[in-house]
Amino acid sequence: MAESGRLIVLAAPSGAGKTTLVHKLLERDLDLAFSISYTTRPQRPTEEDGKDYFFVEDSEFAAMRERGEFLEYAEVFGNWYGTSERYVESLLDAGHSVLLEIDWQGAEQIRERRADALSVFILPPGRAELERRLRGRKTDSDEVIAGRLNQALSDMAHWRDFGFVVINDDVEVAADELAGIVSGKGGDNRTDNESNGRRVAELLGSSG
Ligand code: 5GP
Repeated sequence: MAESGRLIVLAAPSGAGKTTLVHKLLERDLDLAFSISYTTRPQRPTEEDGKDYFFVEDSEFAAMRERGEFLEYAEVFGNWYGTSERYVESLLDAGHSVLLEIDWQGAEQIRERRADALSVFILPPGRAELERRLRGRKTDSDEVIAGRLNQALSDMAHWRDFGFVVINDDVEVAADELAGIVSGKGGDNRTDNESNGRRVAELLGSSG
């Protein structure tokens, strides 16, 4: 029988560049499978059902939750998101490591239930760059952008609860660091490493 894989939880505030980073990571041959979440959020035109998410109605999500089918679930920006326990277990049993790209609330639930999971928080390189990235969609109003910035800053306050931290300045460097963490060599990225504490404090407080 194949050796069981590892569970890897990745969380980030919006604007940290998580999606590109996940794609870079999956391109590397690390035998990593991506856990496709269930969500009640409306499907975006660029998304595919069953590839990006399983898009479900509120009632279906609630029924799954009542049947205890979620390994974790949370409400994010007014929509529900959840990870199917059966889906993740089948990938782990087949020997794959499984990547969960979820929010910090879900990450907290995973850490409580799976002490052996690796949890990684991705941070943007600085506040000014975060703001620039959140402004990316030019159609959004200042109010929407300010709301997203506040949300990102309050999400970032949870970074220390994670096992590892990656600062996404250069995406290739960040992908190397993530690959190292996944392969068990991420010592420099541990959140209890003092130099990371200093770097993050600087970046949370700075205008750069
Ligand atoms: P989006 O709607 O932009 O794809 O994702 C919004 C947020 O929901 C992101 O922070 C994303 O990581 C999070 N998310 C996606 N899937 C899940 C999930 O299964 N569980 C939890 N807790 N959060 C999720």
